[in-house]
Amino acid sequence: MKEVHCAICSKKVINDEVAMNLKVLGKQIGIIRCYDCLAAVMNCSTAKLTELSEYYKSSGCNLFKVNYLQ
Ligand SMILES: [Zn+2]
Repeated sequence: MKEVHCAICSKKVINDEVAMNLKVLGKQIGIIRCYDCLAAVMNCSTAKLTELSEYYKSSGCNLFKVNYLQ
């Protein structure tokens, strides 16, 4: 299993966090941020991002169906 770390704080990120980066910042970005650092960039709370990712997952967003860490 591949490990992906946050580009800002080096924390290990989970699959949903990778998907969320792609969702909000686009597929071409080479930088992956954890929810905390992504929230700082987006000027929202970490809880809001978690909530959003759950929403995207339940709405069947394809980005959240991919396993980025395999
Ligand atoms: Zn981080």
